Amino acid sequence: MKPNIKNIAVLTSGGDAPGMNACIRAVVRTGIYHGKNMFGVIQGYQGLINNNIISMDARSVSNILHLGGTILKTARCLAFKEDSGMEIAFKNLQEKGIDGLVVIGGDGTFTGAKRFGEKFGINVIGVPGTIDNDLYGSDFTLGYDTAINTVIEAIDKIRDTADSHDRLFFVEVMGRDSGCIALRSAIASGAEAVLLPERETSLKELITKLKEGASTKKSSSIVIVSEGNKYGGAYDIAKSVKRKFTHYDTKVTILGHLQRGGSPSGFDRILGSRLGFAATNALINGETMKMVGLFGNQIKLTSLSEALESHNYKLEEDLLEMTHVLSI
Ligand code: ADP
Repeated sequence: MKPNIKNIAVLTSGGDAPGMNACIRAVVRTGIYHGKNMFGVIQGYQGLINNNIISMDARSVSNILHLGGTILKTARCLAFKEDSGMEIAFKNLQEKGIDGLVVIGGDGTFTGAKRFGEKFGINVIGVPGTIDNDLYGSDFTLGYDTAINTVIEAIDKIRDTADSHDRLFFVEVMGRDSGCIALRSAIASGAEAVLLPERETSLKELITKLKEGASTKKSSSIVIVSEGNKYGGAYDIAKSVKRKFTHYDTKVTILGHLQRGGSPSGFDRILGSRLGFAATNALINGETMKMVGLFGNQIKLTSLSEALESHNYKLEEDLLEMTHVLSI
């Protein structure tokens, strides 16, 4: 039988990602449309423990679609990993009669949601929000498209100066475990090479590729370095390469946290709206312990257990091969 959920709270947790606000807006307004009382939790799981839970109406999410970050704030909360922290969080929800929870975040957030749901039987639906695009259960996660666009914009600018001075640039982008951002931005910015956590490209291979480019009169070269690759940071790699390849003047740029911020792309605004709408409808229809995701162009539900166990972000081999071919 469908639970008659009356009060739904939404929170954002873990790393912030552009598009989270579109998702919060969709969750709140979909709930209100169906006559539910809606709440926002400030600072993720920390806010559940601190009882920082506010009532939300349709106007409280006006004019936020274009904003980066999350209006509900986010936090990393160690206390929620402890049973005692979860018990306080549950008590705070119970006091307000909150019987449904939408959590927007990455795999850490989903792990917390699954434990919380199992322990207290609260109805919970996850929305994949992370710029890394490294979650099972959705072709794309919220914020990934915007992050790629931000990286591309930065590399376009770097290319101008690289070309003017005949330079080799190493550009470090986010991605400790997944080279998604690196690979796709390499394609879109025409980078000469890309170093990924999932793939061992030897420095020898990299130097051979750069030498080929120089010998066919490339006036600049850009190498995208994903944080988690095996040779270390962009500075280390630049130093190692420079010892053996001196054709270009060599520079390094680390894009860092600017990749997280900024107004969400149209894609992320639409994805956030679709996922938030679907998450709230799923809760209302009696679904729980699941995440919403995009497969092809369809929204689908996957159990949190399957999503967390599968952990199957896979390198897009076909895109990598294409990158090699198109960068000659
Ligand atoms: P992300 O959701 O982006 O992967 P984190 O890994 O930092 O970010 O996780 C976000 C939060 O989820 C953590 O700060 C913690 O509060 C909660 N969390 C993560 N792992 C667990 C766990 N095993 N049990 C309970 N809560 C967890």
